[in-house]
Formats: sequence, C-alpha cells, structure tokens
Amino acid sequence: MAYDLHTHSALSDGTQTVDELVGEIAGTGLTGFALTDHDTCVGWTRAAELADVYGLDFVPGMEVSCATSGLSVHLLSYYHDPENTDLFAEINLARDSRITRAQKMVDLIAVDYPVTWDLVQEHVGEEATVGRPHIADALVTAGCVSTRSEAFATILTPASPYYVSHYAVDPVKAVKLVRAAGGVPVMAHPFARSRGRVASVELLEQMIDAGLCGLEINHRDNAEDDRAVLRVLAQKHDLIVTGASDYHGAGKPNRLGENTTTGQMVERIRERAGL
Ligand code: AMP
Ligand code: FE
Ligand code: FE
Ligand code: ZN
Repeated sequence: MAYDLHTHSALSDGTQTVDELVGEIAGTGLTGFALTDHDTCVGWTRAAELADVYGLDFVPGMEVSCATSGLSVHLLSYYHDPENTDLFAEINLARDSRITRAQKMVDLIAVDYPVTWDLVQEHVGEEATVGRPHIADALVTAGCVSTRSEAFATILTPASPYYVSHYAVDPVKAVKLVRAAGGVPVMAHPFARSRGRVASVELLEQMIDAGLCGLEINHRDNAEDDRAVLRVLAQKHDLIVTGASDYHGAGKPNRLGENTTTGQMVERIRERAGL
C-alpha cells in the first residue's frame, strides 16, 4: 500500500491535465494519490471520477500558500470542505494577489527580457492558480532560458531583482482554518532549503499547537539530517508522517512515487478527517 500524497496538475503549476496525470498514476502501481494543486480544489471531482475508473484510492487535497514575515510556507490540506467560506476567503485573497504579483514580476523582467503578460497567460491553464512556473514557461518560449529549473535558478529566484512576493495567510492561522473546515493539515516539505529560508522549529511547534496533524518528511527537498530532526518532532507530538513526490509533470525533475506514504498513515489522515 503506497500512496503519493502530493501532486499537481495544470489547474495550478503542473504541466498535465487531471486526465493525463491520473492516467499516468494508474501506470505506476501506486495504491492511491492525492491531487494537491496550489490554492484550488477544482480538480477534485474529475480526479475522483478517474480514480474510480482506474481503481485508485483518491485523497482530495490542496497546497495552501502561507507566509509570515516574508517567509513562504506551504501547507497541505486533506479532506477539507471545498466550499468552506472562511478558508476560501483567504485562499481567494492569495489567488488574486498571485495575479498582481506575477504582473509586477513580468513588468520588471520585461525591461531586460522579451516577455509580456500576454505570453505568460498563454501558459496559464483555464481556472489555474498563477505562479512563477508560468513565467518560467514564458521565459523558455522566449528563448531566455532552456528549462523551468534554469528560470528558477536565475531570473525567478527570491534573490533576484525581479522577485516580488504575494499575499498569503499566516501559517498558524491557516492550520486553524483548515481544521475548522474539517481538513487535515500537513506541513509540506518543511525544510526545503533550496527554495530559500525555511520555517524554524519554533514556528513548526506553534503550528502543531494550533492543530497541525502531520509532516511531509519524505520529500526530496528535505535533507537527510533535517529529516532526522523532523522525525524527532513527529515522535514527540505523535504526528502523521507522509512522503510524496510533489510531482509537477514535465515542469520539475520530481518523479511520481519517488517518495510515498503508507496506507496506515492515510488511515490516520482519514481518522483525523472524521471519516
Ligand atoms: P510561486 O508559488 O509562484 O512562488 O512559485 C513557486 C512554485 O514553483 C513552487 O510551488 C514549485 O512548485 C515551483 N517550483 C519551484 N522550483 C521549481 C523548479 N526548479 N522548477 C520548476 N518549478 C519549481
Ligand atoms: Fe508548485
Ligand atoms: Fe510546495
Ligand atoms: Zn507542491
């Protein structure tokens, strides 16, 4: 029983439609998967239908953008009510801010590179949550870089003069909102240092006090020594431990099922969701 509890479709910054993504998952031998697009649940219905067709166990999820004092944090939420007013008021603020932020970044980048907002929009799927990966795709199309990863390592890195941040809910508040919406909050790639500054153990403990249920320890962006620290924390607070690929299709090197979650941990997530 192996589950991949963190995947993205073109409804955020993955490169595949939900149909293509679930079709590919069906060929991996995984027991089940979660669709966790950034700040949206619009793919749940189709993903659940396809999971039925392929005999996969579907776990509905979302990756909530959070921020505190300039630090970007990602919170996975499983099984929340996709129509919860308080949670989606915050999600919609972040989604709107992501658009303004991307426009500002494109304005700055356009001074030095041949990209336009129209070109970026050609890479954003219908209803999709906008992110830097879409700007990266425009930069690839314009011939400025050869891959998304190269764009992230250069023009789009937080250290670049073109970087602009966006509004996102405080992570401690997000944990409370997810719980109030019936969801199970799990901290995504807690120590993903390659992306920039990461959360302190103090912040993680504040999130745990607020109701955080789990840690995504087995993720390629957590180094081995960091995983040891996270395992101690998980043990201390009896947290759910997950592993996942954070698959984005062709947009990132991460491969489906490269890290997985046990059926037993999925059962614990369902228990916390009251299922
Ligand atoms: P944003 O949320 O708009 O700031 O963009 C960050 C998102 O870009 C993350 O959620 C990742 O999914 C994606 N990302 C980060 N690094 C890379 C990379 N090297 N290649 C492709 N996508 C990346
Ligand atoms: Fe992403
Ligand atoms: Fe993430
Ligand atoms: Zn992700």
